[in-house]
Amino acid sequence: MAVLFQKIPTLLHGGDYNPDQWLDRPDILEEDIRMMKKAGVNTATVGVFSWSALEPEEGVFHFDWLHKIMDKLYENGIYTVLATPTGARPAWMDEKYPSVLRVEHDGRRNHHSGRHNHCMSSSEYRAQVEKIDTKLAKEFGNHPGLILWHISNELSGECYCDNCKKRFQEYLREKYHNDIEELNKQWWTSFWSRHFNSFDQIEPPYDNGEHSILGLNLDWKRFNSWNMKDYMVFERKILKKYTPDIPVTSNFMKLFEQLDYADLAKELDIVSWDGYPRWNNDYETVADTAAELSFDHAVMRGLKKDKPFMLMESTPSLVNWNTYNKIKCPGILRASSIQTIGCGSDTIQYFQWRKGRGAAEQFHGAVVDHLGRDDTRVFKEVSEVGELLKKLSPVTGSKVCSKAAILFDWSNRWAIKDMQGMAQDTKNYEKEVLKFYKVHLQSGINADIVFPLENLSAYSLVVLPMCYTMSEEVGAWIKEYVKNGGTVVATYLTAYVNENTLAYLGGFPGAGLGEVFGMYAEELDTLYPNDSNSVLMKKGFTAPVKDYCELIKLTGAEVLGTYQSDFYAGMPAATVHSYGKGKAYYLGTRMKESDLIRFFTPIWKDSCIEKVDMTEGVEYLKRTAEDGSTFDFYVNYTANPVMVTLVKDGVDLLTGKSVSGEVVVEPFNGVVVK
Ligand SMILES: [Zn+2]
Repeated sequence: MAVLFQKIPTLLHGGDYNPDQWLDRPDILEEDIRMMKKAGVNTATVGVFSWSALEPEEGVFHFDWLHKIMDKLYENGIYTVLATPTGARPAWMDEKYPSVLRVEHDGRRNHHSGRHNHCMSSSEYRAQVEKIDTKLAKEFGNHPGLILWHISNELSGECYCDNCKKRFQEYLREKYHNDIEELNKQWWTSFWSRHFNSFDQIEPPYDNGEHSILGLNLDWKRFNSWNMKDYMVFERKILKKYTPDIPVTSNFMKLFEQLDYADLAKELDIVSWDGYPRWNNDYETVADTAAELSFDHAVMRGLKKDKPFMLMESTPSLVNWNTYNKIKCPGILRASSIQTIGCGSDTIQYFQWRKGRGAAEQFHGAVVDHLGRDDTRVFKEVSEVGELLKKLSPVTGSKVCSKAAILFDWSNRWAIKDMQGMAQDTKNYEKEVLKFYKVHLQSGINADIVFPLENLSAYSLVVLPMCYTMSEEVGAWIKEYVKNGGTVVATYLTAYVNENTLAYLGGFPGAGLGEVFGMYAEELDTLYPNDSNSVLMKKGFTAPVKDYCELIKLTGAEVLGTYQSDFYAGMPAATVHSYGKGKAYYLGTRMKESDLIRFFTPIWKDSCIEKVDMTEGVEYLKRTAEDGSTFDFYVNYTANPVMVTLVKDGVDLLTGKSVSGEVVVEPFNGVVVK
């Protein structure tokens, strides 16, 4: 079994614990342990942002308090996830070494402030990090309670200092084989007199600098993500030098834009993330919020498919950084916790354990709030999660096994956002990927998220939404998959440009995919928000479409649907083409979810993917253990009891009772059938 931690081979329950806020209150620290045990907590994440408590002056280290805390936790059956404190710097460092401070895109250097504003390239910063991480690894690496290293916290941001500029130039020099003409060609600098004579002339895209070269913009995004990874690996190496057997993670933030998590995750042992959905908002149903959370979990699960992931942070009640910070309504914590485990997480962790009295996250939700009592609604709901995780422990180490996958690509996302043309406010790449995920989820199909060039052999269907940027290599990867019997569904905008944003010549899709799809898109019509068209599908339904309509010409594909209006009425809007042993579907326009379900239903059947008819508001998730036993999760995200027909009979882990046929799932609750 892919159990994350041999020391504690069960589901983890706990969260960020920042006792350095309470070192003058031993009574509170004592009370914390009692309350953690009461809430069924078995893990605590300690040390996030603790640098000034650990090293109050340069070279002066205070580790006693941390020893006492970790010892105490361990004596009480609570394991420690130990963070490096590098998410925020002490004031002495910024005073003494100003080069550690980040420079903003307007060229101004930051003052000492906040968090995550260090220059990742600064050798002075890295020297300080090496010192504190080495000390921590030597001091706590052998602690019996230590199960995991947590690098920094929510890595983010970019720096425009001269140091970073030089590193960017070096990055480009390597990428373009020290050949400036190769760069000029890929960046198409012959337009607007943008030609560079040397790598030294290239600058980051400052606020008042160069933005018209799309290849430069994209390479800057890639560089920034690479530089952050380089920094993360720098921390990882220090920890691994002293504690090679302790796994390493760094907490991600769903589809965070700046960092290519698919690339960063390769350098981590375990993927973890911080999930803060806007529950009970005024613009969507709770089930819609849940579907997006399910998608975010799938993205994180997809980053390391061979093992469970961790929900490193979530709030037991509310956050404090949205425009409106509504509390989680009763039952949401329970339902979302069952869902989170169903999606492949082996942990439910919170930020934070106890609310601080002041500063940045003063009123952010916590398990223990300013009231300090263990009979609050929130404390009781957290304790209930502690109980249900114990019941779900047989799930530990099992995996979600999917036959359908959806491609997501950070480079493509950056390039689409920067692309000139189409409608700027209806590109919606991320929303479209989410839509395809929801189409599967609503049909009881747990789709995986895949990233370019990964092994696709487990999948019989791969959806390729808006794959605008595509290298020849990725094109060949898709071609090979279809040739060997895979089915793909691609959409409008497929393979318009290469990995450096150079348009393909000779018809879209490029990257060698024209022969796979048996068609080409001659034009792309961008619709105004109030425009509409519709597609008559040969399967016998008419689907209204919006935003984008590609005008498709055939070179061997069969027509599945045609446009119904505008001058291109009667032209193909959807096609299918057999290639090798597989099939390549092309959807040249944007349909709504319910029509996509109709579009996909025969494709799922052809691909041997079982559709499960679900009651609205109920999510079906499935995990499979190494011995083949399965866990079917049914989560009810409505305020009413609902009847579901079980996919398989068995024992409900949450009640211990045998269940078969139809069962009632209570409001904001779940049934988990082994
Ligand atoms: Zn910098």
